[in-house]
Amino acid sequence: MTLDLWLEAHSYLRPLADLSAQVDHAAAGIEVFDARIPDWEDYRADFLTGVPLLPSTAAAVDLEPGGRMAGALLERLASATSGKLAAETRALDTELRRERWSSRRIADFLLGDHTLRPPSPGLLRYLAWTATARFLRPVVNAFNSWRDEERWLRRYCPTCGSLPAMAQLVGVDPGRKRLLSCGCCGTRWRYRRIGCLFCESADDHRLSALAIEGEKYLRIDYCPSCGAYLKTYDGEGSEIFFLADWTSLHLDVIACDRGLKRLAASLYTLPI
Ligand SMILES: [Zn+2]
Ligand SMILES: [Zn+2]
Repeated sequence: MTLDLWLEAHSYLRPLADLSAQVDHAAAGIEVFDARIPDWEDYRADFLTGVPLLPSTAAAVDLEPGGRMAGALLERLASATSGKLAAETRALDTELRRERWSSRRIADFLLGDHTLRPPSPGLLRYLAWTATARFLRPVVNAFNSWRDEERWLRRYCPTCGSLPAMAQLVGVDPGRKRLLSCGCCGTRWRYRRIGCLFCESADDHRLSALAIEGEKYLRIDYCPSCGAYLKTYDGEGSEIFFLADWTSLHLDVIACDRGLKRLAASLYTLPI
């Protein structure tokens, strides 16, 4: 699937595609700081009890350079773009410059510190995760190699602790697996194949799958018990595209029209 073909068939996604392209272009121009790979043995006990990597004091991953990269991305967008994005990033940039230790504050904000109250908090989360995910990429890759998926199988991201944005089905039956995909840090991890991750009442009921006309690779899995849904990419090879969340925002509209609830984490606000 190419983006151009996708946008031809889903022209209403164009404003989001433009925003995403602007941000990705600016992010590609900022310096990527080196991230220290944690000593996995220090982290093992926390991992086994369900503490995600970034909040783990034993793993001691320093997210501050990611916050610095987020600051650099904001500065770049504030000066290089025009229109609403430029105005909002300029307001954020100005506000954050008033903070002492602003890059540390941004990093803490991403991990759930609510004492930072920026204008456009949703935009800051989106931009700061975009930059921080770049910083974290080597750590996430090393973590993927080290992690025993059988020992996690939790509904939240093993790296940052967020709920997933989407799911993906990989492999063929009987060995078909369900992965969950973090919209923040980009980690994908294994979860059990059946059952709802939101109500976790789980094992005894199946999710219902809602096929979407014209969408071969995407469907909506929803839970008849709690009414929550999770968009699912049923395929392999185009993860960056199909798991980007914004590329399937029309599925959120369909789910919402059917009275289903989005409990999945999102860096995008539904434009309805
Ligand atoms: Zn994550
Ligand atoms: Zn449920």
